Amino acid sequence: SEGSTAAADPAFADCGRVACELAAQGRITEAHLHIAASPLSEAARTMLHKQCADATLECDTFAEGLVVKPTSEGRWGVFATRDFKSQDCILQEMAVVPWSWFDFSDPERLEALIAELRTEEGRAKTARLNGMVPRSVPEIPHAVPILRELEGNVRATHPDLEGEELQELMRVLAVVVLNAHEDGCHGFGSLFNSHCTPNVEVRGWIHMDVYCLRDIAAGEELCISYRAHGELDMAVDWRRFRFAQKWGELCTCPRCQRELRELGVEDPDDVA
Ligand SMILES: [Zn+2]
Repeated sequence: SEGSTAAADPAFADCGRVACELAAQGRITEAHLHIAASPLSEAARTMLHKQCADATLECDTFAEGLVVKPTSEGRWGVFATRDFKSQDCILQEMAVVPWSWFDFSDPERLEALIAELRTEEGRAKTARLNGMVPRSVPEIPHAVPILRELEGNVRATHPDLEGEELQELMRVLAVVVLNAHEDGCHGFGSLFNSHCTPNVEVRGWIHMDVYCLRDIAAGEELCISYRAHGELDMAVDWRRFRFAQKWGELCTCPRCQRELRELGVEDPDDVA
C-alpha cells in the first residue's frame, strides 16, 4: 500500500521520530513545521501529519478568527477574520455523531447508532447538523442508491419506525453518511468547501484537525480538498471528473474555473 511504501523510506522514520517527540511534548506546530520541511513523498508527509495530529488529545478547540457565512456561490463556507500563519491549527473537533462504514451494514452497530440518535441527547446533537447537505433528494442523485440501501437496512432492523420519525432519521443518517470524516460526522468541520489548491488541510484520524498549508490573510475563504492531495496535480478535466465520481457534480473551484478559461472553455459545465 501507499502507507507501507512511505514507511520504508529512511527519511520517513527519522522525520517521524523527531516529529512525534515534538508532538508528545505538546509542540505540535513545531512538529508539523518539521514534517513540512523534510524531504518526503506526499503520501509519507500526509501519514506523519495525521500521526502527529492524533498525538494531541485536546479536542473541540477552535481558533479565534473563523466565521461561517455564505460564499459568492450561495453555499456555506468558512472564512478567516484575521491573519493565520502556515501550520497554524485552526480547528480540532470531535465527531458530533461518531460513525464508520461498518455501522451501515452491521445490524447490531446500526441498531446501537439509531438507539442513540433517538434519545433526547441524540436529537440535540443532530440539531447541530441542520442545514447540511442533503436538504432534498434532487441535491444528491449520485447518493440515492447508497441511501436506499441504508433505508432498507434501517427498515429491516426497525420495523416499528415509520412516517415522520423514519423520514427524519433517514435525513439525519444521510447527512452523517455524506459528510463523514474517518471518525464520524462533524458540525463545524463539515462546512469547509473544496478547492483544488487548498489553503488548509484535515489531519488526524481519531479526530478532525484542520491546519493552514500557507499564510492566510483575513477575509480569505478557508478550503480543504475533498480529493486526495495526490490527485491535485492532475489535469483540470480529469480532476473535475474524479470529483464528480464521488460528489455527483463537477468541481467548480476558482482554480478549475481559471484553468478552463485558459483552455478557452466557455461553459465549464460542458466539460465532463
Ligand atoms: Zn477544482
